[in-house]
Amino acid sequence: MEIIDKSESSGMIHSPFTEDQIKNLNKYQDSGQFHPFTCPNDGDEKHVAFEFEKEHAGEDYEEYLKGEIEKGIPFPEMSFNQTSLVATKDGWMCPVCDYKQYWAHEFMADKKHNEEMDKCLNAPIHTFINPGFNLSTDYKLLWDLIQKGQRIPAWLVYTDEYKEPIWDIVEVKKSIWTDCKYSIGVRGIGYENKQTFEGFEMVCKKYSLHFVLPKI
Ligand SMILES: [Zn+2]
Repeated sequence: MEIIDKSESSGMIHSPFTEDQIKNLNKYQDSGQFHPFTCPNDGDEKHVAFEFEKEHAGEDYEEYLKGEIEKGIPFPEMSFNQTSLVATKDGWMCPVCDYKQYWAHEFMADKKHNEEMDKCLNAPIHTFINPGFNLSTDYKLLWDLIQKGQRIPAWLVYTDEYKEPIWDIVEVKKSIWTDCKYSIGVRGIGYENKQTFEGFEMVCKKYSLHFVLPKI
């Protein structure tokens, strides 16, 4: 994926945003590849309750935290301290409070940039021949497993800079040292992101990740 240097882009856009801009801005927010615009009031009780409800509807927040800590996850509350803004015609809105923001970086609404993200999602699937291992590309299942605290071995393929695909083995887990939702990598190198399942899925697809299916 092309990394766009913000310092080179002096372009700003202001509301009202066009339909296309709204679509691309929200896609950017949801991509999980970049840090989204967030509400400056996030992390307070109302915002945390909103974020918790999104992923754990009907569950009890305090009970959940207790359970996670018992599983050895030191700061489970960190997963709910970020609330992304939503792009609308009138600018960015917070889905929880009345915070508004009227500008965006131009590149955030750039169709080409967002098409790059689509390309990641539609990256070719590499054939993986490794009989004897029960491998899976069910990324929703993988996501659920790591959110429950499992650490899962996987193979992936680097194709970015190489003529021939390069296979590597990685560990997929919930990152415990930061407020990241996941970590894919080996010691010293990897992908971490605090964002959504969609962002995680995009990385998995881009690298044709195949994980070892646990017998549970
Ligand atoms: Zn807010």
